[in-house]
Amino acid sequence: MKPTACRALASAAALVLSVCAAHADEKSVGKGMAWTIMEDLTVETGQRLAGSPEEAAAREWAVTRLKALGFQNVKNEPFTIRGYVRGHDSAWLTAPYPHKLAITALGYSGTTPEGGVSGDVVYFPTLDAIKAAPAASLTGKIAFIDHAMKANQDGSGYGPYGNVRRQGPGIAAAKGAIGVVIRSIGTDNHRNPHTGAISWPAGVSAIPAGAVSNPDADIIARVARSGKLMRLSLTLTGRTQENMPSGNVIADLPGRDPSLPMIIVACHLDSWDLGMGVIDDGAGCAIVTAAALKVQEGGKPLRTIRVLWAGAEELGGLGGQAYAKAHAKEPHALAMESDFGADRVWNVKFTRLAPQVAESIKTALNPLGIVPNAGAADGGADVDAIIKAQKLAVIDLAQDGTRYFDLHHTPDDTLDKVDPAQLQQNVDAWTAVLKIVATEGGALIAP
Ligand code: ZN
Ligand code: ZN
Repeated sequence: MKPTACRALASAAALVLSVCAAHADEKSVGKGMAWTIMEDLTVETGQRLAGSPEEAAAREWAVTRLKALGFQNVKNEPFTIRGYVRGHDSAWLTAPYPHKLAITALGYSGTTPEGGVSGDVVYFPTLDAIKAAPAASLTGKIAFIDHAMKANQDGSGYGPYGNVRRQGPGIAAAKGAIGVVIRSIGTDNHRNPHTGAISWPAGVSAIPAGAVSNPDADIIARVARSGKLMRLSLTLTGRTQENMPSGNVIADLPGRDPSLPMIIVACHLDSWDLGMGVIDDGAGCAIVTAAALKVQEGGKPLRTIRVLWAGAEELGGLGGQAYAKAHAKEPHALAMESDFGADRVWNVKFTRLAPQVAESIKTALNPLGIVPNAGAADGGADVDAIIKAQKLAVIDLAQDGTRYFDLHHTPDDTLDKVDPAQLQQNVDAWTAVLKIVATEGGALIAP
C-alpha cells in the first residue's frame, strides 16, 4: 500500500491508521541511501536470473538510477553467456512410502522428460564417499549426496561443502547415474531448497540434478540408515541455453587526478530466481554505491571510484571475466567487493595494500567494532579476474555470515531479512575505507 492510499483510508477506521503507521515505518524513510537502492532495485525488477529478460531490465534500471545519483560514464556493457532456463521442478520418494520432496533444479542441470525419471536411490554420506564408488556402479540409479555443512561466522564451510553441488553431479554422471539429488548447500531447517550452479567436467554429459531442503535430506538419510530400498521420481524440465544476453553496468565518480589508477568497488546485479536477490546481492550493490556517494559528499576525491554491478556472477563469475577483458588497458589500483549479505562487517583483511594505508584503515574501522584479520583478502568473483590481471591491492570487509547460508539461493532471500542497522554499519565501514584510499595520492599497492 502506498502512503497516499494510507492517507485516503485513514478516516475509515482506527485499525487502518495503525496498519498504515506500521507500514510507514517499514518504508525506506530514515533507513538511508543503501536501503533505498536495495528496496527499489529488488521491488522494481524482482529476481534477476542471469540471461533472463529480468536481468536485462535490471541493467536498464541500474543505468537510469546510477545516472540519477550523479555517476558519470554510466554504461551497460553486454556480453553473452551459456545460461540456464528453469522448467518444472518436482520430486517424490516413491519407496518405502510416497513423500513429496521440496526440490529445486541446480543451474545447468540436465533435463528430464515431462514425466520425469525414476530409479533406486544410492545414498552417499559425503562427497568423498561418491568419489570412492567404483566406476559404473551407479548405472541406472539416482545418487543422493549428503554433507554436514554448519553455520559459522566466516562462511568458510561454503568452499568444501559447496563442492557437493559444484562437483557432485559430475561425479555421479561419470559413474552412470541417471539423476542426482543433493542435500541443499544451506544451514537452515526450513523446507526451502537452495539452488546454485553445477560445474560439469569436460566430456561428461549433464544429468538431471537437484537439491532438496535440509528436512527432506534428513528424511532420506534416516531411511538410508534403516536399510530399506528407496526409490525416487525426479522431474526437472529446465534446460541450458547458449548465447543468452547478460552484461555489466559500470559507473564512475571521477577523481580530481585522472592520472592516478582507479579504485573499483563491485557487487553483482544478477541473482538466482527462487527469491528476490536481496541478500545475494542487491544489498552488496546498495552498500558499495551508497558508500561511494557518501565519500563524494565531502568533495571530489583524488582518485576515481568505479562501481561495477556485474552480470552473470551466479553462473561462474562471468561478468567479472568480461569486465577484466573489456577494461584491461585502464589502470586500476585497488579492488573491493560486497557479496556476502547485509549483516555487519566484523573484520578486515588486506592483500598487497601499502602498510601505512592499512594502518590508517584499521584505526578508522576500530570504532565500528571491526577487527583486523591476518588472512589474505581475495575480493570475490566479480573482481577476481581484474585483480589477477593487474596484481591489484585488495581489501575485504568481511561480514558476519552466521545467517547467510540460511537464506542463500532460496525463496527466503527477500527484503524483510535485512536488518537496516547492520546494513548501515556496512555503508559506514565502506565509506571509512573508501575515504582513505580515494584520497591517498601515494602508491596503494605495496612495493
Ligand atoms: Zn553473490
Ligand atoms: Zn549467489
